[in-house]
Amino acid sequence: MTEKATFSVQEILDAIRNKEFRVYYQPQYDALTNQIRGAEALARWIRPDGTIVMPGAFIPPLEKSDQIVELDWYMYREVCAFLKRERERGDWEIPISINFSRRHVFEENFVTTLCAIADACKIPRRLLVVEITESALVECEESVLRLVESVRAEGFPIAIDDFGCGLSSLSFVKDVSSDILKIDKSLLSHNCEDEKERIVLESMFTFAHRLKMLTVAEGVETREQLGFLRTCGCNVIQGYLFAKPMPEEDFLTLCKEMPIAEKAEDILTIQSAASAMRLLTDAIFLCYPLVIFSNLSRNSFYMMAYENFSARSCPSTGVYEELIAHGAATMHPEDRELFRETFRIDKQMEAYRRGEKVIRVVTRQLGDDGVYRRAETSNYFVKNPSSDDVLVISLCKNLDD
Ligand code: C2E
Ligand code: CA
Ligand code: CA
Repeated sequence: MTEKATFSVQEILDAIRNKEFRVYYQPQYDALTNQIRGAEALARWIRPDGTIVMPGAFIPPLEKSDQIVELDWYMYREVCAFLKRERERGDWEIPISINFSRRHVFEENFVTTLCAIADACKIPRRLLVVEITESALVECEESVLRLVESVRAEGFPIAIDDFGCGLSSLSFVKDVSSDILKIDKSLLSHNCEDEKERIVLESMFTFAHRLKMLTVAEGVETREQLGFLRTCGCNVIQGYLFAKPMPEEDFLTLCKEMPIAEKAEDILTIQSAASAMRLLTDAIFLCYPLVIFSNLSRNSFYMMAYENFSARSCPSTGVYEELIAHGAATMHPEDRELFRETFRIDKQMEAYRRGEKVIRVVTRQLGDDGVYRRAETSNYFVKNPSSDDVLVISLCKNLDD
């Protein structure tokens, strides 16, 4: 294999047109069942003498000259042709990820072409994952965001590649709607044994899952890494530990030999503190659809969620006294005084000093549908070890649903 030889852009383009480029597939495995969940298409240049040229030798010159789009379209067409063949033969359902360079932002017909090729091959778009690197997103944010939106609107899943490497920014992940987050291999040390590294990774998975993104860990080479990634709730594993990128025939053989789903491990025996907390939070929301954190000493609040609560019009952060006024206004007129009096900050502070643990009240709450329902609000006093502020968590539930 050659990595370092330099080739002219013309040589590379000629080779693409001569069909010397091959798609290699690197399988992606379910982190819990070990079943193949997908694959990434990676370019390999097989020279007439049989030597294999790796992407490191042809991607940079192509990127520099903007000709990378040629390769990407070639790869995409090849993958579509492959999926077409397999779907004609059977009910192929394994999605394939294709790398798209940032240069496509400047192509006017990018989305139209993407759709046209998939449709001509009759491939459901959910099977064609568009991978785009995080650095591309950071560089030309506005135009990339628009492109990503339109690709997604057409039904293609989007994967953010190389997340956590280079110009990382968490803020763009909140702006771009993507389906899959691929955590870069540079974040994994050999054994994932460094405490700081583990904390960073754990939080990345927690935030990706809270944004409802599927997580893929790349470059997984050791059992230790796999073990740790499982405890983080990582969904999919891609790396040499399971399989290297391989020619189509080998990939097909592997898919055919795919074991019947191994009985998944008992998730409770391998979960981390972070994933246990996630389950606990889900259970709390089942019981209390509205959860509010308030700082009585600072007259502030932060609303954690108000899914399925009958009135959804509350602001999500702000001044506590305003929240109480807002809450009272959405109540039955006869209950307003009781509610306001119970939750006056000075009254609550007194109760706290007396050593009370909880203040509870039931009121009639006007729902968005115009109907009054009984709602119970329980304010629990809690302590944050690094502050003397008086904090309360309000757990609110509908009694009449
Ligand atoms: P990538 O998109 O991040 O792809 C993953 C790379 O990590 C692949 O390198 C893969 O072989 C390698 N890899 C996978 N598992 C492991 C592992 O366990 N350990 C180690 N050390 N490496 C692992 P590859 O195939 O050399 O590709 C390098 C890069 O070239 C890709 O990185 C991608 O950015 C680019 N590339 C490849 N094909 C295309 C293409 O068709 N279009 C575009 N635009 N870029 C491509
Ligand atoms: Ca990739
Ligand atoms: Ca990557």
